Amino acid sequence: MAAGVMPMAPRVLVVEDEEPLAVVLRYNLEAEGYEVAVAERGDDAEARISEAPPDLVLLDWMLPGLSGIELCRRLRARRDTKDMPIIMLTARGEEAERIRGLVTGADDYVVKPFSLPELMARVRSLLRRASPGMMTELLTAGDIEIDRVTHRVRRSGRELSLGPTEYRLLEFLMQSPGRVFSREQLLDGVWGREVYVEDRTVDVHVGRLRRALNRGAAADPIRTVRGSGYSFDEKF
Ligand code: CA
Repeated sequence: MAAGVMPMAPRVLVVEDEEPLAVVLRYNLEAEGYEVAVAERGDDAEARISEAPPDLVLLDWMLPGLSGIELCRRLRARRDTKDMPIIMLTARGEEAERIRGLVTGADDYVVKPFSLPELMARVRSLLRRASPGMMTELLTAGDIEIDRVTHRVRRSGRELSLGPTEYRLLEFLMQSPGRVFSREQLLDGVWGREVYVEDRTVDVHVGRLRRALNRGAAADPIRTVRGSGYSFDEKF
């Protein structure tokens, strides 16, 4: 668990029968500090939601057991789940169906293949709207403080100026202090899968982030792990 992220991790239920996608979603949601459960069937998801309602549902459209659209409709009809935040995951070609998804009551939808950073931003904003008290907006480590709403970064109280990619990189690394990320994992988590960028791009942006972060500061919180990648030092 990242230092100072959230008082209580919001729980996200991923309902997705494509296992590789479910794995990627779990990985990325956990990196954001959420507690994640995965269901591969619509009917299993319904049972699980009845037992322990999550704070947000990522719901695939086509599912065995019970379709995502039908599950969404049922959740909206129940008193205890009618306001539960739901993001539908739809495949391309289901465009007309998307409208039906929103009519059925989903709060948002994304079309596969989607950008992970964008999906994570939507999850965050929907959770913030649904349960404002649950989302901590400040992320701190040592003398570094970032505000996830305004994207302002301070070190020892002094405001730093970071580009959007450097901000996202810092936020991503700070969420999992001590964990080493390969360049490929950073590309997935920070840039998203669809964008084509080379491994070297990661090094360039880490360099920029370091320069902005460490100006006049004694310690460098970003560790280069030779042959592996980068991590945010827990005790810099
Ligand atoms: Ca599916």
